[in-house]
Amino acid sequence: MPSATMNTEEVRAVWTSEKGSMAKDTAETRWPKIIQGTIDDLGKAAAVEDVDEQKRAESIAIQIALKDLKQGIEQNKPLTPLRDDGKPDIQQWNKQLAAIGECSWNHCPWLFGECYIYRFIQRILNSSKHWRNYDVFKSQKDSTFIKSRAAVEELACRYMQIVADTHVAQNESKEEAKKLLFIEMTEVALWGNATDLSLLANLTLEDLQNLQGRDAIQKSQRNIVDNDTDDVWAYLQRTAGQSSRQVDIILDNAGFEFFTDVLYAAFLLDTGIATSVRLHVKEFPWFVSDVTLPDVESLFYHLESSKCFPRREYLDQLVPRLREFFRSGAITTTSDPFWTTPYSFHEMTSRAPALFKELQDSYLVISKGDLNYRKLTRDGLWPHTTTYEEALGSLGRQSGVKILALRTNKSDVCVGIPTQAKVDALNEEAPGGAWIQNGKYAVISFNEGQ
Ligand SMILES: [Mg+2]
Repeated sequence: MPSATMNTEEVRAVWTSEKGSMAKDTAETRWPKIIQGTIDDLGKAAAVEDVDEQKRAESIAIQIALKDLKQGIEQNKPLTPLRDDGKPDIQQWNKQLAAIGECSWNHCPWLFGECYIYRFIQRILNSSKHWRNYDVFKSQKDSTFIKSRAAVEELACRYMQIVADTHVAQNESKEEAKKLLFIEMTEVALWGNATDLSLLANLTLEDLQNLQGRDAIQKSQRNIVDNDTDDVWAYLQRTAGQSSRQVDIILDNAGFEFFTDVLYAAFLLDTGIATSVRLHVKEFPWFVSDVTLPDVESLFYHLESSKCFPRREYLDQLVPRLREFFRSGAITTTSDPFWTTPYSFHEMTSRAPALFKELQDSYLVISKGDLNYRKLTRDGLWPHTTTYEEALGSLGRQSGVKILALRTNKSDVCVGIPTQAKVDALNEEAPGGAWIQNGKYAVISFNEGQ
């Protein structure tokens, strides 16, 4: 049995050699596919007419380096230190790799190995002249977003109805109505996370549409295996009088999920739950579909395009409204290098103390998606009945961080299941760990950090 040498705590992190794990499957099948996708993308980008010879030649060198990476994974080669690309974080990566000791693609801590791949790809691009700002995942992000047309149009319509309802809900006696809308919008943001491109590499249009839309969301409610929505609502009610109520959203994926996140942010502002919302994006392309700064403008570019979204009735009302939140500074974007490190969030207190302080000062931190959840819980193989608070480590008890995780389950870790009887029932309903891995189950986990 492998043990995590990168941490001294008692619960070990999942390794890619773990039998029957999503980690193992990922290393063996998903990683080579993802890297092949980047090679194909560069090939296409370089074949475009106006690309000059020098740039084309450089793209071929990058493709060769990526093929090497892919082969290394397929042949289970050892992970080697990253070569310098002039960025200050390389040393940290190599130190971390040295601390793990000998490891190979099919026998390494999953969290480190997967993060390392994206930094490796970025190192290759950073070292180039013509491709350093190129996003090898952009075309995948864009094309998947366009396929979400039906759900985007449906949610635009629903949101404009909610805006009308909100005026009613601001009346004190309508608190219950406001709570129901809060539940609905929280679940929209939750299930928006079901479409994660690094995890659903072979998604068909039908699969995608089955994951989206209001009907799908309502049907999925019973699959929320840890649901703390009532606790979040109670916290928001209790603290509504605070003068500054800044919500921080640590984003996951661009495209449809990001659209649902911006709607959620707008909802929190429109209802007065939040006074401002800060969106945390990644500094470079990460886990295929994570939101980077250019993806923010790309969202609006697509939403405003009648070619991408031809049914304009509600979008033409909604999009200027969303734009205004950004223009006025009610919604802002920010980024921190910590989000693109291999460290779990347990290490935030020591490695990114300023960021930790910002999260302590936040009214509510919302963590989106699977990778953030893995990092929150140190990607540890905790017993599933472990409380969310305990698995949060230094971000849990007495941390002062109010943290809500919205995550569809797509890896090997899941905590916060209230009883062993419920774990047993889930194992019977979705055997072989399917309820932790297949993206059809989810958690809405909340901790107040008291
Ligand atoms: Mg992601």
